Amino acid sequence: MKIFMYHNIDIPLKEAKLKSLYVKPSKFETQLKVLKKLGYNFVKTEDLENNQKKSILLTFDDGFKDFYDNALPIIKKYNANAIVFVPAGLVGSFNQWDYEKLNIRKKLMNWEEIKRVYKEGIEIGSHTLTHPFLTKIPKERAKKEIQDSKKMLEDMLSTEITCFCYPYGDYNETIRDLVIEAGYKYAFTTKEGSLEQSDNFYEIKRIMISGFYSLPKVLWKTII
Ligand SMILES: [Zn+2]
Repeated sequence: MKIFMYHNIDIPLKEAKLKSLYVKPSKFETQLKVLKKLGYNFVKTEDLENNQKKSILLTFDDGFKDFYDNALPIIKKYNANAIVFVPAGLVGSFNQWDYEKLNIRKKLMNWEEIKRVYKEGIEIGSHTLTHPFLTKIPKERAKKEIQDSKKMLEDMLSTEITCFCYPYGDYNETIRDLVIEAGYKYAFTTKEGSLEQSDNFYEIKRIMISGFYSLPKVLWKTII
């Protein structure tokens, strides 16, 4: 099973840096359309347990507004499932953690949009409260980021939050254990690989779908 990692589904503004984070909506739609034709299923996180062949889990980091505007209609059109990782303390704000580095403010979904996305069947996971490098802050603060974000999302959505995603893919054993202790079932990294290549459910490897990848490259990444 493969887990795809996306960030923005949008056309980048000229001044935006790191344009590989943006997959054009038309490109995203083609990826879903072709993979579906080839017999792939876009599954839910609970399907990580059965790890079926030809399964893909679509993950979206950071909860950008363009998920709501651009990705959601395409996901619905192809009857796919997906999960969005939200920095719970920054809902309705923008990418405060890297807007200077990227030279652009990217809008994040507000609670109303997140609730609507959830009602449409999209899963929501935690991406901490404020998107810090978890290994670089005091352990007590990291614990709070991991635990309080879960609680906040659970309160707002009235559902159990089972998935966590490490900001910047930054974690170590201590951080991983805090995630386990907080009661999550799965945690996602930015390390490249398949579910089979992941050591355990708290260090799940993914495949970053760069905006620069051609369709054959996406298909290649899916089958290897
Ligand atoms: Zn992130």
